[in-house]
Order: sequence, then structure tokens, then C-alpha cells
Amino acid sequence: MRKIIHLDMDCFFAAVEMREDPSLVGKPVAVGGSAARRGVISTCNYEARKFGVRSAMATGLAMKLCPKLILRKHSGHLYREASDIVMDICHRYTNLVQSLSMDEAYLDVTESDLPKGSATLLAQKIRQEIFDATKLTASAGIATNKLLAKLACEKNKPNGQFTVSPDKVREFMTPLPLGKIHGIGKVSAEYLRQQGFNTCADILPLTRFELVTRIGNMGDWLYDACRGLDDREVITEWERKSLSVETTFNQDLSDPEEMRVALTDLIAELQEGLTEYPEKKIHGLQVKIKYHDFKQTTIERAGMAVDADNAWLLHLERWANDPRPVRLLGVGVRFVSEEETPQLSFDALTMTG
Ligand SMILES: [Mg+2]
Repeated sequence: MRKIIHLDMDCFFAAVEMREDPSLVGKPVAVGGSAARRGVISTCNYEARKFGVRSAMATGLAMKLCPKLILRKHSGHLYREASDIVMDICHRYTNLVQSLSMDEAYLDVTESDLPKGSATLLAQKIRQEIFDATKLTASAGIATNKLLAKLACEKNKPNGQFTVSPDKVREFMTPLPLGKIHGIGKVSAEYLRQQGFNTCADILPLTRFELVTRIGNMGDWLYDACRGLDDREVITEWERKSLSVETTFNQDLSDPEEMRVALTDLIAELQEGLTEYPEKKIHGLQVKIKYHDFKQTTIERAGMAVDADNAWLLHLERWANDPRPVRLLGVGVRFVSEEETPQLSFDALTMTG
């Protein structure tokens, strides 16, 4: 049985800003692009959340909800510096660290030297070391797989941790609202609600077959997820085969101009992420589009550089054939594996879903 820790810094960017400028403490603070430039909020602190401000929300809307919101621009170098320290601390205890973003990682500590054999104690130790080194708080979830660890991490946030022991999995999952499960967004949750499914308790009595019959392929995955089953491995950076970022919109986008702006933001985020992998060769650019009915399509073009214009071209090429409102957009790259030679043809068009 694996021992997995999901570690997540608490409102990371906003926390760094508050550390740098203590006069911000106790006030609603967000980091993001300006409303004038149709920016979005990337992180906000708990004071801002009380007003309904959320990450990925348009800054204009955030300012309406919370007129006193203090908006800060990205201090990229400071976040990077803190992130490097956090990831270094994680690597002291295991090589199996999968960073999901600058401030979030899965650690497989199954083979680690655990204090008194306890991953729970190790998580405490890591959080303390992070605080000592950065003056920033982290939360942690501890469990036997990634799905449970991530859910557990939410339980005592901020600056807390929670362990789901193997004998408590059923108890932990049963009352959980389906929307809390990573992979079920607002729209999917609403769809499930319409089917009469609110919490895992509503799913558990159904057989796998019944579930697939009622809600399609998603049912297969949901059957396992509601039982806290997940056998995905922690993938380290060395093995990383792709990198992508995506945004689910609070309201479906139907204006192409809004999609273009969103793609531009996503490309900037992807480019920043790619600076972590200077040694990797990129196969090409990918754009992912998801519609509100879960139909999903991915366009990939080998040899295409990661920039906003290219992402927009790829997007248009596919979206123009199916110009309906979009609930999620993503951009990504696949890395060229050691054995694979870089393809520079422009004809590798793939479609999934
Ligand atoms: Mg975080």
C-alpha cells in the first residue's frame, strides 16, 4: 500500500505578497491581471474569499464583489524562489515528488524514512520546515493514493493537515459532495445533481454497469473515485511526458474574443511552467476545448511553437467547426522522449474525445 502526501501552499501568491508587505495582513488581497486588461485573479487570500472572490475569476467581477480588494501584479521571481525552497524540502524525504504547480505537489513516501513509521508525522515535519524556511504555511493530506490525499488536504486548510487511514476511506468518502472530487467541475456536478447524484452516498449503491449506463464513460471512473480508489502513480519530473495548464470558466465562454484572451493567459502560464524544463525538447503545441456537455477535443500540431497566436489558430481551426459555448480551455505540450526524434512536419493532427 502506498503512502502519499499531497502538499499545498495556502493561497500561495497572496501569502508571498503578505509576507513581503505586512500591511496587507488582514485585508482582502489578490494577485492577478488588471480589470482594464481583462485580467483574471490567480490567487486571493481568505479575507478576499469571504467576499466571494475566487481564483480564475475575472478581475472586473472580483472588484465588483469586493471593491476594497487590493490587487497585486505577479511577483514571479519571489514565487519561484519560495517554490524552489518548498520543492527542495520535499526532495529531502523522497525522490518521488510530482509538482502539480509551483505550490502543490504529490509525494510518494512509501519507501521513505518516516518518523516512527508515520507519514502523518513526516507531513508535519515538512510543513514546519517549509514555514521555518519561507515563513509561508502549507497544508497537507495524507492517504494511500493521490485522490484521497488531495481531498484530505482540503479538510484542514489553511495551515493544517488530515490523514485518511485505510480503514476510514469509506467513512471519509460517503458524505462527500461529488463536486469536491478532483475532476468533477461545477458543470459536471450540476449534471450529476440533475441525475439525482449529490454525494458519493448516492453513487455507492449502483453497480459499475448501472452507472455507465446512466452517465456514460464518466461512470466508470466515478465508480472507483467514490470508493476512494485510485492507482495513479506519482510521476516525477524526470518521467514527465507533458505539461499543460487549463482553466474551467465560471460561466461558459461564447465570445471568441474572450477565448482569445483566456488562451493568451494560459500560454503565459505554460511558458512560465516550461522554464522548469530547460532540458526538454517539445514535440508541439496542444489546445484542449471542452464544451458544457463534456464533449472534449484536443488539437495537437507538431513543431508548432508555444505562443498565443499559434494557440489561437489551433483553437479557431477546431472551434469554428463546432462554435458552441466553451466551459474549459487548456494549452499544453508533449515532450519528446529520449527515443523519439523530433517531428517537424505540420501534418500531425490528432483528435480525441
Ligand atoms: Mg495552493
